[in-house]
Amino acid sequence: MPIYNFVAGPATLPVPVLNQIQAELTDYQGTGLSILEISHRSPQFTTLLAQAKQLLLQLMHLKASEYEVLFLQGGATLQFTMAPLNLATKFHRVAFVNSGHWAERAMAEAKLIPDLVVDEVASAAPHFNHFPLVELTGPAKYDYLHLTTNNTIYGTALNQLPEVDLPLVGDLSSNFLAQDYPFDRFALIYAGAQKNLAPAGLTVVVVKKTLLAQMPTALPAMLSYRKLAAKDSALNTPPVFQIYVAKLVLEWLVKQGGVAAIEAVNRQKAQLIYDAIDQTTFYHNQVRPADRSLTNVPFTTGDSELDQTFITKAQQAGLMNLKGHRLTGGMRASLYNAMPLEGAVALRNFMLQFAKDHEEEK
Ligand SMILES: *Cc1c(COP(=O)(O)O)cnc(C)c1O
Repeated sequence: MPIYNFVAGPATLPVPVLNQIQAELTDYQGTGLSILEISHRSPQFTTLLAQAKQLLLQLMHLKASEYEVLFLQGGATLQFTMAPLNLATKFHRVAFVNSGHWAERAMAEAKLIPDLVVDEVASAAPHFNHFPLVELTGPAKYDYLHLTTNNTIYGTALNQLPEVDLPLVGDLSSNFLAQDYPFDRFALIYAGAQKNLAPAGLTVVVVKKTLLAQMPTALPAMLSYRKLAAKDSALNTPPVFQIYVAKLVLEWLVKQGGVAAIEAVNRQKAQLIYDAIDQTTFYHNQVRPADRSLTNVPFTTGDSELDQTFITKAQQAGLMNLKGHRLTGGMRASLYNAMPLEGAVALRNFMLQFAKDHEEEK
């Protein structure tokens, strides 16, 4: 029986990548050493880092002359602090779109920075069942506008970047390289790797080089994009293994045809699940259809006992980790890049059969 893992994160990785890791774990490229034992000052690592950066920029259609790639630690959560510390230097004022839990977390961390004004300019609270529209009137005196492009918990996503005359900072953690945004519209993008790219322990930051030059020099080194960039992400020991896996995943993604091609597959996967929800009265999803996420699909039967039966029986059928987030309850299917179309088909079939079998219990 095939096993499909719908976990929200740390998430599933492509099987060919896992196989390659296994095959070369004890001997990295003929060195006789494991990638787990390679020095971050070795030529093997320097080459690996350069390849990973190049592949990432290629997939995002960004130029190496314009954007710097950083491989950091501390998760997306540390970026909630680093982004304002480094970027909010002119107006000391930042604008946030409150689209859900992670946007609220990002705002709460920014508010802890002394002398920084944090404005919520759009909000989908309290239900977070849509993506709020941003309308800024007059000259906006903000250092940037912060967006969380996909809401991992509530299952909403931003499909069209707002037309604002402000630098954009994006938390792309949960749909990073899964949806094809015009990445060059962002001043800075960050993403925790464990949703779409690599195991936990790596955070990717892509930042405009012109901004790096304007950043403060008086920040502690590990909080300074400028100092981290000057040492090419190896100011201290970087997460070598995670960067190695990221490089393999990026190569795999290039083989799939790139971000636009994987987005097309992701649309098919999501459509299968949304159709199963919409074509019955058995399941519900609260999100406005235009704002539905491609990567995280929350749904419920409306009955918590029946939801629990669904989760248990799905697991017995090899459909793992469908339990919803503790804030929302119900179920959630996460359909990251590494989830094959067959996994979504299997879930759709299971949902339709389960609805038939349990119709009279509602
Ligand atoms: C998972 C997630 C985070 C948290 O990431 P960490 O790397 O665990 O800090 C932040 N933002 C979004 C959108 C997420 O999905």
